[in-house]
Amino acid sequence: MPTPPPGTRAHDPGSSIPVLFDTPAVRERDPRPGLSGLSPEELLAWFAAHGQPAYRARQLADHVWSARAASFEELHTLPAAIRAELAEAFRIDTLGESLVREADGGLTEKALHRLDDGRTIESVLMRYPARGPRRERATLCISSQAGCAVGCPFCATGELGFWRDLETSEIVDQARFWRRHLAENGHRVTNVVFMGMGEPFLNLDRVLAAASLLSDPRAFGLGARHITISTSGVIPGIEAMTALRPQYTLAISLHTARPALRDLLVPLNRRYPVDDVVAAATDYADVTGRRVTYEMVMIAGINDTPVDARAAAELLRGRLAHVNLIPMNPVAHTPWQPSSPERIEAFAATLRAVGIHTTVRRNRGIDIGAACGQLAAELAGTPPPDAVARRRNLLVDRSAAALRDAGGGVAG
Ligand code: SAH
Ligand code: SF4
Repeated sequence: MPTPPPGTRAHDPGSSIPVLFDTPAVRERDPRPGLSGLSPEELLAWFAAHGQPAYRARQLADHVWSARAASFEELHTLPAAIRAELAEAFRIDTLGESLVREADGGLTEKALHRLDDGRTIESVLMRYPARGPRRERATLCISSQAGCAVGCPFCATGELGFWRDLETSEIVDQARFWRRHLAENGHRVTNVVFMGMGEPFLNLDRVLAAASLLSDPRAFGLGARHITISTSGVIPGIEAMTALRPQYTLAISLHTARPALRDLLVPLNRRYPVDDVVAAATDYADVTGRRVTYEMVMIAGINDTPVDARAAAELLRGRLAHVNLIPMNPVAHTPWQPSSPERIEAFAATLRAVGIHTTVRRNRGIDIGAACGQLAAELAGTPPPDAVARRRNLLVDRSAAALRDAGGGVAG
């Protein structure tokens, strides 16, 4: 099938907002899987099949998960013959060159990682210094796909369109990268959130495998409670996670409780309507006893009005829920702007009035483009100006129509 020109390709699944970039992969994939995608059992089985004792598998796992060794040659504790066989079968690291940028006086750092086929993905590290009895926290935000097919129009990754799913190892290697990077300065990753590029539950099996490795004490070793998976509302993914009864935090990118508006903000809403998404998330809360986080990116004049606040309060009241209100990070090719702090506080007050725990988030790392996908979008080049203009006009028209359809107007 011929590739349509940039700016005209519609997203699967179902968004009619065109993507702005259409960049091909530049190299063939490396067929060797990444070592860090193997479960401890799989690693043991490989060593057993190669006539090696179990302790050697544990030695290798120690190197992989302490993230010390960058090449097989450095694994001096292993016999040379096994090192050669390992190098033939696996890659020790799936991330190529990584570009790191700092913001917030070094408290936020963002990495752009190059993959074997030349695609780029992003991860962001946010450090929160120790305060009183609270120890320092470092939250790492990782990508699950290169690009994203959902196409939320306020999201830089959404503008890129979908490139491909990440391998399990490509997901966990982002955490290994930061473990190595932070160790140099005596810090460590304490939390991992799947809030980088991509929709985690459209790459379900690998994301669940990666989360399991990140929380396995024999692998990366974070507590399950320190892992958050964020979804725009892929119900089969929420159900699959519920069936596993893990202790991960589930985050739902809600953005609005009004269905017609959510069709625009999260195009997946047409396939998985917001009420069903919240019902599935509530099942997760009931089964695991874990409070669900609802994320709302606050966009001036679009989803931040008193009408929206009341709709969200109605939908979430009485549920095991926590709401995060996040001022939208301005994105290059979107006409929208972040809501004012006053608007966000008023929104929060409406939710708190019905007993919903609500936090107003500060946007971190705006100066390095910390909203997911922004660096990769920058790198993808400048899209044709007519495609940008078409997209902006379309968003202005669509949001006016969506607000009309949503009813209740934008009063206030
Ligand atoms: N695809 C998943 C996870 C990645 S997006 C999801 O949508 O949940 C992670 C979070 O980043 C989402 O809550 C998303 O709404 C937010 N985000 C995307 N673009 C943003 C922007 N321009 N400003 C602020 N937050 C943004
Ligand atoms: Fe994809 Fe999440 Fe961005 Fe929407 S907000 S386009 S689901 S990455």
